[in-house]
Amino acid sequence: MLEFLMVIIFIGSVIVLYVSRLPSIKGARGEARVNSFLRSNLNSQQNYILSDLTLPTTGGTTQIDHIVLSPNGVFVIETKNMSGWIFGDANQSRWTQVFRRQKFQFQNPIRQNYKHIKVVQDLLGIEMRQIYNVVVFVGSAEPRTIMPENILWDSGDLLRYIRSKQPICFFNRDLQSFMEKLKNAALEKSRKTSRAHVGNVRKMLAERQNDKTKCPRCRANMVERTNHKTGEKFLGCSRYPKCKGTREL
Ligand SMILES: [Zn+2]
Repeated sequence: MLEFLMVIIFIGSVIVLYVSRLPSIKGARGEARVNSFLRSNLNSQQNYILSDLTLPTTGGTTQIDHIVLSPNGVFVIETKNMSGWIFGDANQSRWTQVFRRQKFQFQNPIRQNYKHIKVVQDLLGIEMRQIYNVVVFVGSAEPRTIMPENILWDSGDLLRYIRSKQPICFFNRDLQSFMEKLKNAALEKSRKTSRAHVGNVRKMLAERQNDKTKCPRCRANMVERTNHKTGEKFLGCSRYPKCKGTREL
């Protein structure tokens, strides 16, 4: 009887160990850690934090780990719970993880998060310079190449990064309206099948993307310009030459 019990306990622990190492479970733990760290360290009167948000996009849905709405800007955060050595740079499409002498490829997390940035930007109707693309590695992974400044290696780095940005972007009433917009657009578990809701959000995204008065890349205002070679008029970003976004007139 005792042996039988021990076998059951052994099998049980193997299952628990296996499940706890599944990437999705590891990922969820990493996200929860970042979430509770941000909540206990950022002033809740001035900052709003949204976690695990599923938003409709023009061609499907996308899942965002965290959004921090702060007076310093909107921070869209992708968490990576990984171990080993990480190799990559901002311009590569695939990054490499070396773990236990094995190499694994994964999508450049900055690019992965860029899709999230575009959706949030369109939903909130804000400019590219007011939104930050941030990736936080929350496991024991270490960088083995020089990394861009928006790749961070623990929650403390994330906090310092958010605080390092100038508090010029938004008033509290802006942040509250952003919170409302994101909550209204997000798919709740019970609403996941609501086609009408997804349709409405998509319509709004399409309208924002077609808004001729705003730059398609950074959402700054557009101004009328003339092509010096052909004499044709077109709309160009007011932030040119920093941004080269154009639209047809
Ligand atoms: Zn622009």
